[in-house]
Amino acid sequence: MAENLRIGIPSKGRLSEISTELLADAGLSFRRQERSLFARVRDMPIDVTFLRTDDIPVLCAEGAIDLGITGSDLVNESGAVVTTRLKLGVGKCRLALCVPDDSGVKRPADLDGKRVATSFPQITNGFLAGHKAVPHIVNLSGSVEVMIALGVADAIVDLVETGSTLAANRLHVLAELGSYETVLVQNPATPHGHIADRVARRLEGVVIARAWSLLEYNIPEAKLAEAEQITPGFNSPTINRLEQAGWFAVRAMVKRGEVIDIMERLEQLGATAILETAISNCRL
Ligand code: AMP
Repeated sequence: MAENLRIGIPSKGRLSEISTELLADAGLSFRRQERSLFARVRDMPIDVTFLRTDDIPVLCAEGAIDLGITGSDLVNESGAVVTTRLKLGVGKCRLALCVPDDSGVKRPADLDGKRVATSFPQITNGFLAGHKAVPHIVNLSGSVEVMIALGVADAIVDLVETGSTLAANRLHVLAELGSYETVLVQNPATPHGHIADRVARRLEGVVIARAWSLLEYNIPEAKLAEAEQITPGFNSPTINRLEQAGWFAVRAMVKRGEVIDIMERLEQLGATAILETAISNCRL
């Protein structure tokens, strides 16, 4: 067995930067020498390995790495037997079956015998089999969205984030095959389970801290119960009596995406001194 735990992260692209930043925020920092395959994590028995994002699920299942950061779409497509430890709250996207705006294909079943370009042949075949359609799969590793214009395909199955790539190619979504995001995966038989748990807990602290803010405000006693319903917190809000009679101070964790809306509702309710504080790390 390798002496150190090995964590595989993407060697290039956006997910490479995201992974490096996440690990650094979790106290796992390293310096990568140019083009090197490995880097040693400072003060921890961990080596980082730089790999192709789509190889990470299989390499994790085979035990070449104990942990890996990759897309759940790639885990699903590969069929690799790995444990998903944590959703990392980034890289959210949908896998969609798309056709040209003027296409005669109106439902998935119409694709029987037709050409479908995709980097996800397994998921695509499985989905269309459920619609009693057997397509001719054009298996590509990227730039799938131009294949209809090139006359190579009648439909595509591709990842969609904002939908702007589809719009630019005059395509629209006929059906959704799944929702995916960036995940931490683990080899189920890793001999480094204890240290893997520590890495997962550390990353979880960062992921939760990024997704939540701390909100504090003062509220009259008569409105306290209503305010607590608006900010129920992660587990339960902290409530302190103020020196000023009939007033309470409330501290609660709030989902970051909901902070502005919740501040407005609290203000309408009569709350004062409403403060949002970012959380940089946490253990809950
Ligand atoms: P969008 O134009 O925002 O819908 O993004 C679509 C393009 O980005 C497609 O070419 C996708 O293959 C790629 N894409 C979107 N989300 C992801 C993701 N989470 N992982 C990898 N590629 C993605």
